[in-house]
Amino acid sequence: MKSDDIIDEIINGIGKLPTLPGVAIKILETVQDQKSGLKELAEILSTDPPLSAEVLRMINSPYYGLNTRITSVQHAVKLLGATTVKNLALSFSVVKSFQTDNSDGFDYTQFWKDSLFSAVAMKSMAKNVSRQAVDDAFFLGLLHNIGILTLNQCMPDQFSLVLTEKRKNQSSYHDAEQQVLGFTHMDIGSLLVKKWGLPDTFYKPMRHHHLPAELKGASPEITQMARLLHLTSLLVDFVNLPDKAYQLGLIEHFAKEYGFEEHFQLEPLLEEVGELTEAVFPVFEIKIDSETRYIEMIETARKELIHLSADFLSRLIEQNKRIEILNERATHDGLTKLTNYQRFQEVLDEEMYRSKRYKFPLTLLMVDLDHFKKVNDTMGHLAGDYVLRETAELLKKSLRKSDVAARYGGEEFAVLLPETPKEGAFILAERLREKLAATCFNYGEHTIYVTMSIGIAAHSPKTDSSNADLIKKADTALYRAKEDGRNRCCLFSDC
Ligand code: GH3
Ligand code: MG
Ligand code: MG
Repeated sequence: MKSDDIIDEIINGIGKLPTLPGVAIKILETVQDQKSGLKELAEILSTDPPLSAEVLRMINSPYYGLNTRITSVQHAVKLLGATTVKNLALSFSVVKSFQTDNSDGFDYTQFWKDSLFSAVAMKSMAKNVSRQAVDDAFFLGLLHNIGILTLNQCMPDQFSLVLTEKRKNQSSYHDAEQQVLGFTHMDIGSLLVKKWGLPDTFYKPMRHHHLPAELKGASPEITQMARLLHLTSLLVDFVNLPDKAYQLGLIEHFAKEYGFEEHFQLEPLLEEVGELTEAVFPVFEIKIDSETRYIEMIETARKELIHLSADFLSRLIEQNKRIEILNERATHDGLTKLTNYQRFQEVLDEEMYRSKRYKFPLTLLMVDLDHFKKVNDTMGHLAGDYVLRETAELLKKSLRKSDVAARYGGEEFAVLLPETPKEGAFILAERLREKLAATCFNYGEHTIYVTMSIGIAAHSPKTDSSNADLIKKADTALYRAKEDGRNRCCLFSDC
């Protein structure tokens, strides 16, 4: 996973991203506003008759199995609830903003087939795991791979190399993109929906749908959705890729790891998904090909898997190792090996969530080295790098396992102290400050002494302050520590 900054740069370099149609923006506003309901939705849809017609066609399709014919949005909301209808309208309006004919050489038909299959699979799985997740599940399944279309549209030349690589190795988009581009449709797609203003509950599962393990500490709803999306992606791979025994092994492995095996009978699930997918194809004007025999597919793969298990396991381990290395690179700073800025923001999100939910105290230290420019200017940049590395080491050694030290910027560090009230944090900050001030760094013939200033701010679980508020408070305290003469700690409430 790349940092948002890098993806932003890539996006800026490749031209305009698809924009969300006006009607979708309006629907999105009603999705985000829990209070707005039927009246607002009906008004919006009345401005776009083709869109309303599509939503009604979908609701009247055998997918919903309703025994009355629905002729108005009002009626649909009454029967299915506002959330379902809102999500459907949003899905259709987003789908309409992308090309669907195959004129540029990309196989849109296959793409939308897979996306519909995913939408249906997500909803079928979600209803066994959590009722709450059902409505968002269809939408997320349908659009979780939107990054693929974005890449195809925004960087067609590079993306054609991805397609060649994918065909050559019979691999997934995700693997081929990583190989050719160094980033994936998860990075681009999730950033796109974030720019569109979709909430975290859509953005985060989308961003991590091939690697939900990256979401350590996210809310249970988000984690579950990412895991469901991961299993859905594996189901699509199982159906499409030739190496079925391996794909089946992955599905079984992850279903177990996520604790879903109880709800996850592959044969009936695939049969249900196959049938329901065929019911929605006509709404999207996709022709149904000859029947796919899922049960036979699974039976053959199971038999092969028994013979392949030793080989399969070693491939799984190899793949996991590769993921770990990529993950380490994406989340840590190269020079100091501390958590990087991007990952720190995610950890902060997670810890703020825990602090609010479980009423744990949470404190942030913003640490900045004093007169560090002088170290570079007098002893050289390499000596400066050495001091940064050693300071990072000193921080790591002095903290608990649950604390998170990150490189926030050049010579600036952020230390997050979960379950630590401000009094305890102040004592720890003083200890860190004294330790550094007493340390003598030897670099070549140079003897280097540096000091640090620390700003401390506590998040109060009772108030609903945001990440930005907490960072701002710690920054203000740091500024005060600098103003008061450096080599000191300052608590925000004392500023
Ligand atoms: P202050 O006490 O006000 O913080 O003064 P300062 O000199 O530390 O602050 P200033 O922001 O003026 O300079 C920060 C310096 O940190 C400038 C830059 O060269 C150095 N720096 C930032 N990142 C790195 C890095 O990765 N390696 C090295 N060697 N130096 C770095
Ligand atoms: Mg400094
Ligand atoms: Mg600085």
